[in-house]
Amino acid sequence: MTNLTPIDEAISTLLNSLPAIEEIESTPLMECLGRVLAEDFTAPLDVPPHTNSAMDGYALRSEDVKFLPATLNISQRIIAGSVGTRLESGEAARIFTGAPLPEGADCVAMQENCRVKGNKVEILKTANSGENLRLMGEDITKGSIMLESGVRLTPQDLGLVASVGRSTLGTRRRLKVALITTGNELIEPGKELLPGQIYNSNYYALAPLLRQMGCDIVKSGIVADSFEKTRNTLEQIAVKVDCVITTGGVSVGEEDHVKAAVEENGYLDLWKLAIKPGKPFASGKIMGKQFFGLPGNPVSAFVTFLLLVKPCLLSMLGSKKVRVRGFSIKTNFSSCSVSERQEYLRVKLQNEETGVPFIERCQNQSSGVGSSLAIADGLAVVPPHTEVSVGDHLEYISFSELLR
Ligand code: AMP
Ligand code: MG
Repeated sequence: MTNLTPIDEAISTLLNSLPAIEEIESTPLMECLGRVLAEDFTAPLDVPPHTNSAMDGYALRSEDVKFLPATLNISQRIIAGSVGTRLESGEAARIFTGAPLPEGADCVAMQENCRVKGNKVEILKTANSGENLRLMGEDITKGSIMLESGVRLTPQDLGLVASVGRSTLGTRRRLKVALITTGNELIEPGKELLPGQIYNSNYYALAPLLRQMGCDIVKSGIVADSFEKTRNTLEQIAVKVDCVITTGGVSVGEEDHVKAAVEENGYLDLWKLAIKPGKPFASGKIMGKQFFGLPGNPVSAFVTFLLLVKPCLLSMLGSKKVRVRGFSIKTNFSSCSVSERQEYLRVKLQNEETGVPFIERCQNQSSGVGSSLAIADGLAVVPPHTEVSVGDHLEYISFSELLR
């Protein structure tokens, strides 16, 4: 009988057991990228705020140009940023893109269809009412909900908010996250590598992912493989944060102390997932705070962060969309999984020759090979006990989605 938890079950369990961040803070637009909106955002005005010209040309009354050729007096010149005066019958206003349509006019004839003669303009083609106009409120209507509570703010969203004149948004406060790397062998980049040591790479791959979500990162330095040191670090840091994340030391070897150290001041409720890479993954509570223990292998740590931790952190922040869905795409490789673990293969998206996209497996799928992560465009999902033949379709989840 299996004692590994399938990933979908693990995610559902996790999402149901998370504390929520309720506090809202007013955040300047330029700091809102990737943050979770905490209120429905209603348009305070119409966009455009006035009906304006979509072309460089001549604003006129369509009834004046029903019969051609029609010659009108150029009565005024309206540039973007200025306001004209009422247009009378028989008159045209020279107008530029974005300039407000003057009262009395109901369309704009594009300049390519006009011929200027002194202070008169000859209209060479009929212009219909409403032509070449951008109507007041056609983009955004005052009072409508522009952005719903729970969205993660994108550059497009911020542009939209700026377009109605707001310079701040109500977002969930930043999540405080401790990111702890464990291992006697680790040393920080920039220092000299001594025999037996390796550089701490997990911190530098995971911290940017936290930053993207607007998390405040509390760093602990590298924690040695000792029960006391691990327990003490966890105790000291847990009180300062909303969530503690560790990498390494979560397996069951003699030098793995994270599990026991967490259980000293809390508990683990999820342990051993049916996924590859990433089996030694743990989650639970430490001193009442959310805890995630990630594997030490760089690939496993990165993949479990994206698949499990990121959705949880977004959920704690009130995000409505926490899971990334892939799409079905053709493979050019075969594989046979006799494992009960769902595999996440690092793959490249290709479309050479035929132009039809397909996925190609990165050669080395070892969970210790960090370079494969940098080469890959995303992950292909191979369900447990599945044989894949060349040309079969697999679910593909792109990094551009996962890393958003
Ligand atoms: P562990 O889960 O602690 O047994 O670690 C598994 C493997 O990942 C070992 O080869 C570690 O040296 C390596 N590892 C653990 N933590 C890190 C880290 N922060 N950066 C790079 N490699 C790591
Ligand atoms: Mg270790």
